[in-house]
Amino acid sequence: MKKTKAKPKVNTKPVKIKDSIPEDYSTETHLIYGKGYTEKWDYSHHLVPPMTASATFRLESAQRGAQGFIEFAHTIEGKEVSKQTPIYIYDRLGEPNKDLLEDNLALAESGDACVTFSSGMGAVSAALGILSAPGDQVIAHKTMYGCTYELLTLWYPRYQIDVKFLDLTNPANLKKAITDRTRVVYFETPVNPTLDLIDIGAISEIVKAANVNRRKRNRINIVVDNTFATPFCQRPIEIGADFVVHSLTKNIGGFGTDVGGAVVGPLWSKDKLLLYRKDFGAVLGTKNAWDALVYGLPTLATRVRQQQKTASEVARYLAGHPKIDMVNYPGLDEWPQHTLARKQMRDFDGNFAPGSMIYFVVKGKSPEESRCNAEKLTNFLAKEAYTITLAVSLGNIRTLVEHPGSMTHAAIPASEQVKKGIDPGGMRLSIGLEKVDDIIRDLQKALNKI
Ligand SMILES: *Cc1c(COP(=O)(O)O)cnc(C)c1O
Repeated sequence: MKKTKAKPKVNTKPVKIKDSIPEDYSTETHLIYGKGYTEKWDYSHHLVPPMTASATFRLESAQRGAQGFIEFAHTIEGKEVSKQTPIYIYDRLGEPNKDLLEDNLALAESGDACVTFSSGMGAVSAALGILSAPGDQVIAHKTMYGCTYELLTLWYPRYQIDVKFLDLTNPANLKKAITDRTRVVYFETPVNPTLDLIDIGAISEIVKAANVNRRKRNRINIVVDNTFATPFCQRPIEIGADFVVHSLTKNIGGFGTDVGGAVVGPLWSKDKLLLYRKDFGAVLGTKNAWDALVYGLPTLATRVRQQQKTASEVARYLAGHPKIDMVNYPGLDEWPQHTLARKQMRDFDGNFAPGSMIYFVVKGKSPEESRCNAEKLTNFLAKEAYTITLAVSLGNIRTLVEHPGSMTHAAIPASEQVKKGIDPGGMRLSIGLEKVDDIIRDLQKALNKI
């Protein structure tokens, strides 16, 4: 490809993505176009940004290379560090496809900065990694994705970071638990796999009050894993969270082709996240970034809007089935947390957006029988259903089912699972883009067999 000369630009403070695109269009439209350029790369001839495949970048002189290293991750705190066009140096430090994706993810989440990682777990470890150090305390909701739980229970004790698990569905529990050492409040909402909701606004009020007399470096930060909801259904930063983490592997990627993760947060965190990624090394592959940029984000709204329409009907069907004990879906009117769902789960235009995930519990006379029936149902679906696949991911164009107790949450001991609301007969369903009647027919056939 012919080399094009990038227009020289003065590198002052980075522009907030929100300020760089026309305001009077919806976020949904912006996710198709995005910011559309990086200061360091000219691809103005392309409609679709080319997929980048260069692990390293040509430096024009020893001085410019040295300056690039000095500038890296030192552009945020308000200082003008260079009068020259910023440069790319090496993929792990940053490159065009990731930069474009990060701008668009920040936009989707109403955040000021985003850094991507090689997986959702890479993003979770980075967010917690820049916010906590030995001697600090992390407060987390008692139920969460199994690997995040293991990160906090297997690894964090080794770093002398204390982790306290609470039931944050009652925010009053948090107020009592905060200490001088608390640095992070961490939770998913909806919670994986139970779909319980945590009131982001109420948690934020408590943390704000606790932060009043704290110095900046001792502040408590709220980190929300927004993977289940996606930014289409909920933007935690708008409601008071400081950080959002994502597994891009799920509904943002949307097609199940790539693993990835992202942290969205305030501008001050960008340098730290970039340094963390550079040194711990969980860098998102360019091809994965490109897929999320070109296919995932632009179709997010359309996919999730359709999935949640189907999910509402499937949830209603399951709720009325005699072999089902309980259905958790934020869109069900009779669901205990429906009011909270209506308050905080809203799409880009403000419509109620209950999402594409369902948790349901199969009936049984005892927990053992319930587990046994869930296993039978799982096996029947795995063998016979055309529209429902047994697989441990979510947010796919295909409907996926799994048994959290023995799969995604197996890292949590069985006796602990019950305390955390993970029922032995509990099953997680992630609704895809198939016709709703086909999904329901497959469920019906399977339920007839148990
Ligand atoms: C899948 C998942 C993760 C981990 O993401 P990976 O991309 O698999 O590393 C983290 N949090 C939640 C809620 C998830 O569902």
